[in-house]
Amino acid sequence: MKVKCPHEGCGAVMTIPDVTGIADRMLTCPICKYRDKVAVFIAEMDKLEDVDTECCLSESDDTIGVLKIAEAIYALVEGRNTIGRKAPSSTADVQLVVEDKYMSREHICITVVKKSHDYQHRIQNIATRNHVFVNGDELKSGEVLILQHGDVIKLGKTEIQFVKE
Ligand SMILES: [Zn+2]
Repeated sequence: MKVKCPHEGCGAVMTIPDVTGIADRMLTCPICKYRDKVAVFIAEMDKLEDVDTECCLSESDDTIGVLKIAEAIYALVEGRNTIGRKAPSSTADVQLVVEDKYMSREHICITVVKKSHDYQHRIQNIATRNHVFVNGDELKSGEVLILQHGDVIKLGKTEIQFVKE
């Protein structure tokens, strides 16, 4: 689903996984680092209620990380995030809006694990047919790689940038 940053002057729109209980989770805006409950970001998009935006910017730098395709931002959440091409039959948590027949509906899984002062992002290839490349190197089925800020993930013909900072 699409949500919007409630922080004044930011208003970044991002896509987040539409999973059960998502509204209660915390989300950090990838642009301004404003941190609040996902419910606040949803309310801002829906404009159904007034949202208190007086809260200051978050001091924490534990940004969970996002995926970027051109101007589109897809946020990740703690735990398992299955990622693939948006389609009516897709069950991926994060559905990328792309026209790319070489991208599977469930192509990769990124597991976000909280460490003491940071998050670790473990990427795996879960596609049965299509390939995954990270910075040009193939990620084979069964392999686990830890993503670093700025890594470029290629699914089909689509390049996705992993942004953590
Ligand atoms: Zn923001």
